[in-house]
Amino acid sequence: MKCELLSIGTELLTGATLNTNVNYLSTELSAIGVDVHYHTTIGDNPKRLRECLDIAVNRVDCVIITGGLGPTQDDLTKETVASFFNMPLKRDDQQVKKLKKRFENSGYPLTENNFRQCDIPVGAAILDNSCGTAPGIHIEKNNVDVFMLPGVPREMKAMFTESVLPVLKSKSNQIVTSRYYNICDMGESQIENQLLDLIKQQTNPTIATYAGVEEVTVRITAGGTNAAEIKKLLDQTESVINERFGSRIFSRDRTTLSKTVGELLKAKGLSLSTAESCTGGQIAAALTAIPGISEVYETGFVTYSNNAKKTLLGVPSDILDTYGAVSHQTAEAMCQGLLERTGSDLAVSVTGIAGPGGGSEAKPVGLVYIGVADHQHKIIEKCRFNGDRHQIQRRSVNKAFAMLRNLIITHD
Ligand code: ATP
Ligand code: MG
Repeated sequence: MKCELLSIGTELLTGATLNTNVNYLSTELSAIGVDVHYHTTIGDNPKRLRECLDIAVNRVDCVIITGGLGPTQDDLTKETVASFFNMPLKRDDQQVKKLKKRFENSGYPLTENNFRQCDIPVGAAILDNSCGTAPGIHIEKNNVDVFMLPGVPREMKAMFTESVLPVLKSKSNQIVTSRYYNICDMGESQIENQLLDLIKQQTNPTIATYAGVEEVTVRITAGGTNAAEIKKLLDQTESVINERFGSRIFSRDRTTLSKTVGELLKAKGLSLSTAESCTGGQIAAALTAIPGISEVYETGFVTYSNNAKKTLLGVPSDILDTYGAVSHQTAEAMCQGLLERTGSDLAVSVTGIAGPGGGSEAKPVGLVYIGVADHQHKIIEKCRFNGDRHQIQRRSVNKAFAMLRNLIITHD
């Protein structure tokens, strides 16, 4: 089934509102095997809506329109689509009753223009709006399904899952299944490179990589009519992915890297403290975003100055004087100080140059030392990250979590 998404709203064209509806709908539709071939966005303009509708119904099997369904003057979707299909509008008694009841409950005055929402094209199906007032509409004409949904994302999503998905699923005997592999400690292009042979010959399953904030996700999706056949196809590709990425795959259910580390700490009952310089507390922020992390996370220091590294962590002056704050030795001493002063089982430290200023030939922007330690081991890595200040900080945080994960896995 081929589908076109038609977004209505001048605010989408001016950039005032980000078109999140197409992002949501495209993701949901591809997950059930519907091919989204076109995204079209227009303003609140009936003439252009007619033109675009005319094009859409001639090139796809399903058109999903969002926006312009409400009661105000600029909400013209329903009138325009009904007139395009030569369907008269009729006020629906059921909808009028519902609207009156809703307004009674809310205490807001019910004005005449609100009743426009109750006008339904004769012959169309009504899609209930469980989160708002304007109902959606489904028209089936000449083997094309046209759905009109509200623009408000929350209402659109509810209506899509409750009323549109069941219709689309009933029209298709396709089964589509996806599997996800979250990979750490490797960049997206590096991962893509290792999958290039599979990506080039992909048909079924298809393979895609996505760079998230904390990790890269590889998704494989297979479709067909036979569940066992789909499983076999996915298993074959999965074994290649396992072979190539091994223990760098840290989750298969889309759990993020920091959350995975948090869960590992809890499962093993290991406490952790953090000392951050150039990441300014971002590791601590990621940890404290995890519910229940207080079981294992003890404390975090942001030791930005040399003085703070000395007084709060006990980094010796001669290390700072001899090797500098951005050095293997300082990262190691930060870990050492943390373990001694907090008594935590594990420590992580970060010290580096996030830029854009402050770099030199010997210590360029993007040079970051990251340390992880328990009471037996200290692992310090020298990293060279590319990117702007924000990216260097982000990459440092992710690398620190990847190193922590390795330490926890090998910890006994
Ligand atoms: P209402 O009943 O609120 O008038 P509606 O169906 O008429 O809903 P619009 O008036 O077009 O929808 O938009 C309502 C709100 O939803 C606006 O705040 C708009 O910015 C937002 N919105 C509309 N379309 C989208 C979209 N594609 N993505 C994200 N937000 C959207
Ligand atoms: Mg509106």
